[in-house]
Amino acid sequence: MAELNLILMGPPGAGKGTQADRLRNDFDLPYYATGDILREAIDQKTELGKEAGPIVEAGDLVPDELMIGVIMERIDTPEAEDGFILDGFPRTVRQAEVLDEALDRRGRSLTAAILIDAPGEELIRRLSGRRICVKNQHVYHLEFDPPKNEGVCDQDGSRLVQREDDKPETIKKRLAVYREQTAPLVEWYDERGLLRRFDGSRPPEEVHSHIRATLATLALEAEL
Ligand SMILES: [Zn+2]
Repeated sequence: MAELNLILMGPPGAGKGTQADRLRNDFDLPYYATGDILREAIDQKTELGKEAGPIVEAGDLVPDELMIGVIMERIDTPEAEDGFILDGFPRTVRQAEVLDEALDRRGRSLTAAILIDAPGEELIRRLSGRRICVKNQHVYHLEFDPPKNEGVCDQDGSRLVQREDDKPETIKKRLAVYREQTAPLVEWYDERGLLRRFDGSRPPEEVHSHIRATLATLALEAEL
């Protein structure tokens, strides 16, 4: 089996997390969400984790060179020898170049950049359905995970509210920022023939089978 070295991209609400879970099972690949592996590196006091700790503690952004080091610490382990799913990095073209160079030095390369996207109004509809209870911040969704009684938390009976972050106007702004930031990155991968776009507004099952079929084809092609 050829390597499947993947990055996963997509706006909030497009179902990236769901698909990541399925893919890691399908292809038995390790999943590296950059926030998580950064925390793990710090907790485990790896060489780079020790370097990153004080930066994170101070609330600063970890520089690209250090972040790629943390990522490669994981990609260089046996668990990732058949591939990996990277989520949250790169976010910029500069970071994409850094990743490219790091893989290249190891004689490896990216297999595909998977983009799960959906129209803005669909994302807003999904994201704005979130409700949180005022007492313990239990999370519900009007459509996907509604409470038994409207407006009331199942677990503690407290009132459900919509957070400021989940209001359509706020989401709209957040999505606009996301699009502006990631558009150059999407274009960069597209120009290199690595971009694979999937319609996240389709049912998760369908998105999943499209991605799986695409990856199976890519793996076959790589073997030829
Ligand atoms: Zn509650």
